[in-house]
Amino acid sequence: MIKQNLHTHSIYCDGKNTIEEIVLSAIEKGFTILGFSGHGYNRPIDDYSMTRENTKLYYSDVEYVKNKYKDKIKIYLGIEQDYFGRNFVNHKFLEYIIGSVHFIKVGNEYKPVDLSSDVTDYIIKEYFNGDFLSYAKLYYEEVKKMSYWEEVDIIGHIDLLMKFNDDEKYIKFNNYDYLNIAYDCIDTIIKNNKIIEVNTGAISRGYRTSPYPHIKLLEYIDKNNGKICLNSDCHEKTNLDCYYEEALKIIKQCGFDKMMYLSDNGFVLQNINLFK
Ligand SMILES: [Zn+2]
Ligand SMILES: [Zn+2]
Repeated sequence: MIKQNLHTHSIYCDGKNTIEEIVLSAIEKGFTILGFSGHGYNRPIDDYSMTRENTKLYYSDVEYVKNKYKDKIKIYLGIEQDYFGRNFVNHKFLEYIIGSVHFIKVGNEYKPVDLSSDVTDYIIKEYFNGDFLSYAKLYYEEVKKMSYWEEVDIIGHIDLLMKFNDDEKYIKFNNYDYLNIAYDCIDTIIKNNKIIEVNTGAISRGYRTSPYPHIKLLEYIDKNNGKICLNSDCHEKTNLDCYYEEALKIIKQCGFDKMMYLSDNGFVLQNINLFK
């Protein structure tokens, strides 16, 4: 069986645990594959991203546990690269890259998508005249562009902009115009052969009751033969497999019969029943 999480944050960025604490917890929880994905350097836009100094320590720390625990768990060194942090990332040490959009650029300003409900309210009202769809268009435009980047393997939490929309205060999840913007983005991601992440992170942190992407988008991804992987976007070791069982159920209900896992020879498509 395969139990994998490739989206993991540690104390080197905004996570709560050391690299080794996370590894020990993953082994205890029966993970077979663990990938670290610290927030790649993206300052001054993102204060949660790793400093240059921390990036170096992060690389060597992951290399250390990779060897130390090699008989117990397969560990990979990755990074979560923000859309605006592309030029800062040195790819040669990395085994995979998650590409994520956390900010939108309005004029010359960078506005966070996932900071807080109040901040999102303010951005939509002040910069988009309260029009959620134009906000969504700009967000998905950036996700689309990122899917053209050769170095990116996985597109992270593709509908992060819905983080504070669990009560549908901005828009209904099945709004036709919204879905078409998202579908168009998914078409591009699939055309560019990137893996789309199913991400349970916002559930563990209490913002959402279902994973990203929303079930409507997941069904569309399956119908169009998109490839997915399941990640917990873990910031605390106890959440390494948060909502995994439920998410797997949803994934199967949406029709997927395969998922991707990371091997020493790159990403491999595997039967969904082999995942736990
Ligand atoms: Zn992220
Ligand atoms: Zn993350």
